[in-house]
Amino acid sequence: MDLATVLLLHKSSFLVGAFCFAYVKWQSPKASKGLGSLAVGFLLLAFASTVAGLGEKEALPFRVWTIGSFSVGILGYAAIWVGIKRLSSGNVDVKDWIALFLPALLVAVALATGFHLDNQSRGTMFNANASIFLGASAVKILWDNQREPLSARFLLGATLVGATALTGLVLSGIAGWQHVADDVRFYFFLLIICHFAVSLFTLIFVNERAEAELRKLLETDVLTGVKNRRWFYSKLPASLSPGDCFIILDIDHFKRVNDQLGHEGGDVALKAVALEVARQLRPGDAFARLGGEEFGIFVRNHDEAGARMLAERIRIAIRVLHVEYSTPISLSISAGVGVCKEPQRPEDLFKATDKALYAAKGLGRNKVVLVDEMPVASLSHPESVRSR
Ligand code: GH3
Ligand code: MG
Ligand code: MG
Repeated sequence: MDLATVLLLHKSSFLVGAFCFAYVKWQSPKASKGLGSLAVGFLLLAFASTVAGLGEKEALPFRVWTIGSFSVGILGYAAIWVGIKRLSSGNVDVKDWIALFLPALLVAVALATGFHLDNQSRGTMFNANASIFLGASAVKILWDNQREPLSARFLLGATLVGATALTGLVLSGIAGWQHVADDVRFYFFLLIICHFAVSLFTLIFVNERAEAELRKLLETDVLTGVKNRRWFYSKLPASLSPGDCFIILDIDHFKRVNDQLGHEGGDVALKAVALEVARQLRPGDAFARLGGEEFGIFVRNHDEAGARMLAERIRIAIRVLHVEYSTPISLSISAGVGVCKEPQRPEDLFKATDKALYAAKGLGRNKVVLVDEMPVASLSHPESVRSR
């Protein structure tokens, strides 16, 4: 491959990336924070590469193409950093544009000193600027994995690390710090691969995030923000082991809350109960709104005493919970508790636990009843105790 072809490919790699970013941004404007800045960054670099190419062919005056390609190119890397930062953190911040300070400073110094007229100085500054922004982008993408884990972060992060290393190598070669192979085509070739990889992995990143958000939406109860019934059932094992335990709880006389305070007041109470129950549980416990004002809990490694204690703790927490919607709302819950003694199907224990909840309602509400202590009447006539 001759140098002209490599340079053409180099420019094309930026154009393809810019097109992909712009296309995804146009398709889903909300899910693509940062893609606009990335598209701008890639376009600026394609432009800088074109101007430099024309300059090398002497189609443009030396003074014009050197400052032109230098300033547009370093601005392009700043825009890439802004894009990666927004992509990674998922929000847009006007302060991001402070990054433009570095290219602006470099251009001002170039105009004042004329260092851009010297190929070595211009190359050194250009690649130093690129290394800084690419390195910062790599750190940002990988760092944010703690907050939002996505496997695409490692693909994109590794590519950005590679691009940083490459620009660093070119920088040290140009600056004369170390011997870099004379064949510049080799470095351009690797950089072209990096540009394509950054575009590809950015799109994989956006896709992975969108899928994760969709999954979360499918699993979450819109009103309370806790998990929903679909998620709850998906968390149950095919067969229960001894120590597995269901707690099903239902807010008492919730209809009255709605009647007194309206549906909105009821919603406020529902949310408060959901948050308080979640607060009483450990991170590994499965908790969801099963529907209406009924919630389900699935915990493991509990004996009957432990499961009862947990249910009682929740019952008391709701009893003393302070909820207000124009006036204080007094709430209580009833709960059924089922503890697995020997391997059984989850649906069987769930049904028995639901009957224990009926029994708790029948005993006057604000009560916890274990499956094994259900009154006989509630076993045979659950509907007589509570209408659903
Ligand atoms: P019990 O003690 O027997 O459980 O009596 P209850 O009034 O709590 O039970 P019932 O099944 O008679 O009424 C449940 C009420 O919960 C009726 C329904 O309008 C209300 N509800 C269900 N989902 C929501 C919701 O999302 N928001 C509000 N505000 N109310 C809801
Ligand atoms: Mg109820
Ligand atoms: Mg109910």
